[in-house]
Amino acid sequence: MYAPPGVKTSQNMPVSETMRAWVLGDPGELKLVDKPVPVPKRAEVLVRIDAVAICATDLEIIWHGPPASIQGGMPFNKNFTPGHEYMGTVAALGPGVDEYKIGQRVTVEIHAGCGQCKRCRMGMYTSCHNYGLNYGDVDKGHRANGFTTDGGFCEYQVNNINTLVAIPDAMSDEEATLVVTAGTAMYGLTELGGLVAGESVVVTGPGPIGLLGVAVAKALGASPVILTGTRDNRLKIGLELGADHVVNAKKEDAVEAVRRLNGGKGVDYVVECSGAPNAVNEAIRMVNRGGKVCLAAFPHEETPVDVAHIVRNNIYLYGIRGEGKSATHRAEAFMSQKRFDATKVHTHTFPLEDLPTAIKYARERIDDAIKVVVKTRGTVAQRVAAE
Ligand SMILES: [Zn+2]
Ligand SMILES: [Zn+2]
Repeated sequence: MYAPPGVKTSQNMPVSETMRAWVLGDPGELKLVDKPVPVPKRAEVLVRIDAVAICATDLEIIWHGPPASIQGGMPFNKNFTPGHEYMGTVAALGPGVDEYKIGQRVTVEIHAGCGQCKRCRMGMYTSCHNYGLNYGDVDKGHRANGFTTDGGFCEYQVNNINTLVAIPDAMSDEEATLVVTAGTAMYGLTELGGLVAGESVVVTGPGPIGLLGVAVAKALGASPVILTGTRDNRLKIGLELGADHVVNAKKEDAVEAVRRLNGGKGVDYVVECSGAPNAVNEAIRMVNRGGKVCLAAFPHEETPVDVAHIVRNNIYLYGIRGEGKSATHRAEAFMSQKRFDATKVHTHTFPLEDLPTAIKYARERIDDAIKVVVKTRGTVAQRVAAE
C-alpha cells in the first residue's frame, strides 16, 4: 500500500503504489504504461485525477515538443506524461499541508512558479524566469505539470497547493476541467485593464479560450461583446455564452463588420484567440485609437505586422502566457455562481484507455468536437447532447 514517510493518507481513500499513465514516445506516439504513484513533498498534495481535458497545446507538445521542456530539452522518449487541464480529488497530503483535506474535490492551474524570481514575486508565475529548471543541479523549484513535469494523462499527480482551486459539489468533473481555460481568458482581460464593464470587446477565434473569453467578458460587464470566427456552429455557442453579435469572417469583412456593429468606431479591446496569420493586423484595425489588443494565440510562422498603424494610433499589444495572477480563482467564482455555462464548449468524453481516440477527435475536430474530456474511471465514450 502507498504510505511514503511524512505523507498523510486516509483509509477512506486508499492509494495503490502504481498507476496507469500515458507516456510520450516519439513525436505523435503515446504508450500506456505502469508508473509509481508520485509522492508529494512540502506544500504539495497528491491529486487523484478524475477528469482531464485535451488542449490544443497538448497536441503541439505531443507532435512538436515545445512549449514542453523536459530535463532542459525536447519531451520525447523521456517517460514524460503530458496533459495539463485536469481536476480530481485530494488523495494524500505532503508534510505540513493543512490547507486542503483528503477527499476534497479540486481543479488545478498549470504553473507553480519558482516563487523566487522577479516575475514570480510580481505574481506573474506563468512568466517564471526559471521555467523548466527543476532537475539536478538547476532545480529552482519551478513546476508546470504537463509542460516541464509530469501531467494529467494518468491516475495520480502531485500539485503544489498554490496550483489548487477548490470546487463546489455542484460543479461536474467535466465543467471543472474548464476552469483553467476560463482562467486563461480571465488573465487576458486582467492584463487589458481588468475593469471592462461598459467597454467594447471583440474576441477573435471561437476556440475554447475564445468562447470562454466571450463568457468572461460578458460576466465582467463588457458591452458590446462581439465574436468573430469562421464556423457557424461555434459562433452559435458564442451567442449562447453571451456574445451580443457574431461575425462570420468567411461571409463578410470582419474589420468592417466590427466597426459597423460598434457605431462606426473601433472597440476598446480585442482578445485575439485565432492565431490566424493576419490576425494581428486585423485586430489593430478593430480597436479604436488608444485601444488594447491581447494576443492569446499564435501562428506557426512569423508574420509581417503594420507597426506604423500601431504607433500612429497609440495601440497597446499584450502577449499573455497561460493563466497568471490567480485568474483561475476569479474564473471559478463566476462558474460556481453560474454566471455562464462553460459546459457548452464540452462536446465529448472518453475513458482514459481511449486517449489516442480522444486526441484524434480533438485534433481532427471529428463530429464538431470542441473540448474533449478523458475520465479515469467508469466511463464509456459519449457525445454530449447538443441543446
Ligand atoms: Zn491548455
Ligand atoms: Zn519564478
